[in-house]
Amino acid sequence: MIQRPLLAVTLVLGVAVFASACARSQKVEGLNRPVVKVVRTAPQGPVAFTHADCKRHARAMRSKIPAGFTVVIEPPFVVLGDESPDRVRQHAVQTVRWATTRLKALYFPKDPKRIIEVWLFKDRTSYRKHAKSLWNDEPQTPYGYYSDAHGVLVMNIATGGGTLVHEMVHPFVESNFPNAPAWLNEGLGSLYEQCGPKDGRIWGFTNWRLAGLQKAIRKGVVPSFKELTAMTSHQFYEKDRGTNYSQSRYLLYYLQSRSLLVPFYKLFHRSRKTDPTGYKSLQSILGTSDMPAFKREWEAYVLTLRFGAP
Ligand SMILES: [Zn+2]
Repeated sequence: MIQRPLLAVTLVLGVAVFASACARSQKVEGLNRPVVKVVRTAPQGPVAFTHADCKRHARAMRSKIPAGFTVVIEPPFVVLGDESPDRVRQHAVQTVRWATTRLKALYFPKDPKRIIEVWLFKDRTSYRKHAKSLWNDEPQTPYGYYSDAHGVLVMNIATGGGTLVHEMVHPFVESNFPNAPAWLNEGLGSLYEQCGPKDGRIWGFTNWRLAGLQKAIRKGVVPSFKELTAMTSHQFYEKDRGTNYSQSRYLLYYLQSRSLLVPFYKLFHRSRKTDPTGYKSLQSILGTSDMPAFKREWEAYVLTLRFGAP
């Protein structure tokens, strides 16, 4: 099982503005990520799970759903929660559906390989109690985590509004971009951990990861993009000097600001067999092979950003 800490969502002005963090929240940035081999036995899923598929899944799991939980079908997810039925439906529609629709429109034609259960527990007690009784888990984070082994996203919804967007990105990347490098997977996940609508699309905003990155830029300790993109998962997660997530996030944020993010993703996806790190696609989309010069420009740009600025 892999547990990934989550921060939660904030809903502002009726639109989704998310502030979550998956694999590492700010407080646990330096912690080692558990290395657990997960044996995937689930068969390849269809391109899209239907409402009926998810309903069947919900029916099959009925006997394990504790009393007092509301179940909302939100393909390819089944959302379950022990807040009021209205609140559970609100999370399902305003967060899960909102982000799923927009992420799929930009990047992901295929659904995750299996239906993912999103469990939203109303408080710490419920969260810890049910994690233990349902999956024999003892959560390592107060916010929530994703369990690859069980295909579940487990949230203490009381710690925030409840965004799952960062984690929701990962099963989509897994099914749509096999062997995506960690920098892309976590860059996309963390880009959308603080997001909202812009021009009808999902848009990543500046977030808490900015301050640490700016500090590292000022110290001159941010790796080259060649180094970042070439990192294995082990190097990315276990040998992180503290900037891997934020450098990846703000590289994608930069591309987003230049309307290059989706074209980059598509080019990288098309070229992934000959360019498995994405470095060549990055040079191509930026129109330069002088990556040290680009890095200087990118660093100057990042230093102009402010957390909370429009
Ligand atoms: Zn992540």
